[in-house]
Amino acid sequence: MRKIIGEFEINEEKAEKIAEILLDLHKQGHPLVSMPEYNLPRNLIAGSREHALYLTYVISIDYMTGAEKLWRKARGAYELYPERFTPRKILAVSERSLSVFLRRLGARYPKSAAKTWKKISKILIEKYDGDPRNITVQPLTVEEIKDKLNDFPYLRGSKLANFYIRAMGETGLFKVSNLNDLDIPVDKQVARFTIYTGVLRFLGEKFQGCCNDDPLKSIIQEVWRTAAKKFGASPWKLDEPMWNIGSKLCTGRKCGQCPVKTFCDKTRGIKFRGNILFWERRG
Ligand code: SF4
Repeated sequence: MRKIIGEFEINEEKAEKIAEILLDLHKQGHPLVSMPEYNLPRNLIAGSREHALYLTYVISIDYMTGAEKLWRKARGAYELYPERFTPRKILAVSERSLSVFLRRLGARYPKSAAKTWKKISKILIEKYDGDPRNITVQPLTVEEIKDKLNDFPYLRGSKLANFYIRAMGETGLFKVSNLNDLDIPVDKQVARFTIYTGVLRFLGEKFQGCCNDDPLKSIIQEVWRTAAKKFGASPWKLDEPMWNIGSKLCTGRKCGQCPVKTFCDKTRGIKFRGNILFWERRG
């Protein structure tokens, strides 16, 4: 079934077929499902306060740099200096030293990243006894958690908030009462995948807009929410394989290796500058 929203057309049937393949990749434990944030430093105990801090700090600067490189470097840094990922140590060092450390992790804006880490540390100590797990002492809904994240710089934006809640919820570090309702965090890779496959088509002549904002964000979230529901799955389960295909295969048009190639339109005429999408209809 096709659905029109403004100047966009959604191919729901194609979305369902693709969602089924992506969900199957989870069951197979396919490499396209692995996410770098789940590959922990060797000296980190899963489920611990340190685990919660590690995810909180690294995710807060995830948007500032390439994700794979960031997590690889963060893993290495944590294995050598685990204390640098604790609120008291972060507040004790100068902003300058912290920004040098963050530059080495690959943060594109290390001064801003240092301010982010200091602010997060202060809130964690003042409100949550230095432990992000205390954000959900009792199970909370996604919306209630988002309200609490309003205090935190950079974890409150819709893309990072969804990513953070998913990572913390999936690892049991947050108690989320409705994790299954969490939408896919829309970014450049998810938008690229949705458009290249032809799940979303533009009916006008030209479009320019940010992937993280409406109308793209809401339309893309809705299409994958509906498709995931058909299989009784959570929309966020589609994020991992979609993000990996978007970033590793779509960018180089490596369609031969792609698990959804049979259903993909391989749409052209799209360019990205940062998170801004430029779309010119062809044919
Ligand atoms: S077939 Fe090609 S364009 Fe389509 S999703 Fe796969 S890699 Fe991307």
